[in-house]
Amino acid sequence: MPLPQADFQSLKQRLPIDWVLAHYGVKLRPAGPHTLYGACPLPTHTSRQSRESFSVNLSRRVWACHSASCIAARDGRIGGHVIDLVAMMERCGLRQAGMRLQDWFGGRATHPPPVKESARTSAPTACHPPLGFTLQGIDTCHPYLEQRGIFPATARLFGVGMYRGNGFLAGRCVIPIRDENSRLVAYAGRAVHGEAPKYRFPSAFRKSHLLFNLDRARHTGARNVIVVEGFFDALKVHQAGHAVVALMGTSFSQRQSELLTSHFARVTLLLDGDQPGRRAAEIIAQSLRLKMPVDKVALPKDVQPDQLSSAEINFLLVRTTVTL
Ligand SMILES: [Zn+2]
Repeated sequence: MPLPQADFQSLKQRLPIDWVLAHYGVKLRPAGPHTLYGACPLPTHTSRQSRESFSVNLSRRVWACHSASCIAARDGRIGGHVIDLVAMMERCGLRQAGMRLQDWFGGRATHPPPVKESARTSAPTACHPPLGFTLQGIDTCHPYLEQRGIFPATARLFGVGMYRGNGFLAGRCVIPIRDENSRLVAYAGRAVHGEAPKYRFPSAFRKSHLLFNLDRARHTGARNVIVVEGFFDALKVHQAGHAVVALMGTSFSQRQSELLTSHFARVTLLLDGDQPGRRAAEIIAQSLRLKMPVDKVALPKDVQPDQLSSAEINFLLVRTTVTL
């Protein structure tokens, strides 16, 4: 079925061009806050002299190659948008390119490899001391995780599972929390039978000092990070193929703001579709907008990312993301 014209517009306006480049494994270097450059990946590129002729503007979602022979092979066009890029790469028409993009990013889970960025500022020092021990006897194959839509591989990677030992986390689903340098600083314990409190943390733990999953997110090399509220939101967005961090609530601290701006070039807010989530997204956007580009995903009313499949998350990211 052919795509309506409106969907082409939406793909051009909403689909980050670095996702498409990552799909092809194209690695470019940053040349400014919104620009990348490097070797031209197009099949029309034959020049051996023009090695650094390809550039991308992330905020405008456009690309260009300035090699004269490459331009001539593209009928005189210097560059274009995401659909042009796919049409060139796939040697197909625009309509077919649009259908392929829709197929890759619009209707199913995608796992784009991240775009590398070499110029990275170093992180501020961690505020939490390392924990000094690890819990043993965590069951990462517990049915609770399957119920929440967490794949066994994700549970193993994050070390999330049912704790069989004693103490204040006994019988809870434990979530290891690491600082930005991957040092284990705490475990959170999620109730699995509806008991209160829903989450338990060590008494000295301060959520405001950390971003959950920052260590993994920054090591993907992604320039854009998705910000969610909860641990399970983060696990689901990770499964959908994105660099993600969780605030562990709806509060947003100065420290968390510094962590985001020192490790990423752009943020996408994917907070819950309820009143506190929407309010928090507004406050965070106001605080970050002066420092970096901020996108926001409009989740349907009362929907949370942890309730969504990878395909639904990617659909919402492509279709409902607005730049603030
Ligand atoms: Zn070229």
